[in-house]
Amino acid sequence: MTPRTKAERRERSATARRPRPVEPARTTAEWVERARRALPGGVSSPVRSFRSVAEEPLLASRARGAHVFDLDGRRYVDYIQSFGALFGGHAHPAVVAAIRGAAPLGTSFALTSRGEIELAETILSALPWCERVRFVSSGTEAVMTAVRLARGATGRPLVLRFDGCYHGHSDSMLVKAGSGVHQIADSSSAGVPRGLVADTVIVPLGDVAAVEAAAKERGRELAAILVEPVPANSGLLLQEDSFLPALRRIASRCGALLVFDEVITGFRIARGGASERFGVTPDLVTLGKLVGGGMPVGAVSGPARLLDQLAPLGPVYQAGTLSGNPVAMAAGLASVRMALDREERARLERNSRALEAALRPVCARAPFSLRPLFFGSMFWLWPGAGAPARRPDQVGALEKRRFQRLHERLRAHGVLLAPSLYEVGFVTTAHGDAVIRETATALARALEDLAGDASLSDGG
Ligand SMILES: *Cc1c(COP(=O)(O)O)cnc(C)c1O
Repeated sequence: MTPRTKAERRERSATARRPRPVEPARTTAEWVERARRALPGGVSSPVRSFRSVAEEPLLASRARGAHVFDLDGRRYVDYIQSFGALFGGHAHPAVVAAIRGAAPLGTSFALTSRGEIELAETILSALPWCERVRFVSSGTEAVMTAVRLARGATGRPLVLRFDGCYHGHSDSMLVKAGSGVHQIADSSSAGVPRGLVADTVIVPLGDVAAVEAAAKERGRELAAILVEPVPANSGLLLQEDSFLPALRRIASRCGALLVFDEVITGFRIARGGASERFGVTPDLVTLGKLVGGGMPVGAVSGPARLLDQLAPLGPVYQAGTLSGNPVAMAAGLASVRMALDREERARLERNSRALEAALRPVCARAPFSLRPLFFGSMFWLWPGAGAPARRPDQVGALEKRRFQRLHERLRAHGVLLAPSLYEVGFVTTAHGDAVIRETATALARALEDLAGDASLSDGG
């Protein structure tokens, strides 16, 4: 892209002249203090406070490929990768070029434009069971829309979901298991009255008998069974192979829709997502993260007979000023095209296997039980003895303590994991051999640092 106008040229040279955005160490503490005064908890989303690992927050200044830089210019190998929104790593040239190409043509029209048609067609080309896409601006909105659509299309009120899956922060999803019977749920946040979650049933993850029981009791009221096909928001809670087929069977039997929340897994675990990977076809799918390539995009997809129930064709209302935003669509198109490219996918697979192979022997020598658990390009370092957790209540205080210490030491040696044991790590195509070696060395050093800590040992 050569700059066309004088103003563009001027902006170009100003960008080139601008010094690297590196702040002297002294100012980091000042920025943290300013953040705490201006933003609740110093953040725009809670995990970023680093409270759950009891550390000072890391403020990002810039990022490229596998690396993120803090305000002091320190470089970290980044495994947060915007929680999986980045398939090709930070500031991937194809994504950046797409944004640069789109932005000068208009940043928002509130009219339909070509980008959303192209992104929808690209999504549909990979999901043969889907016929329509409705775009929104976040994963939360995607789930909110899918749930409303399921209720509208079936004329039923109930949604069944699992303790240990995350579906965004809309009111009806902020549910926890209530005391006693599984059918009585409670809201998991202040500000969400019980009435708003009364029609959400929550059951333990992987508990097919509990789903059967709920279906038996209230199957006729059940609009949808909602699940993360690979639960990756309370750690990586890998389920039995029979779990998704069982949900499909139960949903079909009672006339409920099966909704896969693929905000993380979509285009990541396979070109066609979970339906391709597991051979189980849902009725609706929610997408996010990777479909925006780091810009705010969410989507709901499925067959026309369901999606066309949305306004303006159908009675289920849904809208958004910034939905289908042209700049976000351009970034999303670049990201999804990359995720559908066979060579790029092969590179992601290769990097993921290489990282697993590099971490395994280091973990085996750890001073406490530590196991790298991989599902394709998603991974979790399970710091516990015995079988890895399948449900969030199997993650105990000892595992949390180990993770906290490990996170702090890894950070000190230049590797950044998400600041919570409940988040998984993401490999990208930018995590090549050098980055993997850097990670394995840092992990070995971090574990050496922890070797003397008796409170972390398997007896402790
Ligand atoms: C991240 C996530 C969401 C919420 O998406 P936001 O863009 O953060 O609103 C919903 N469901 C799943 C499975 C997610 O991982």
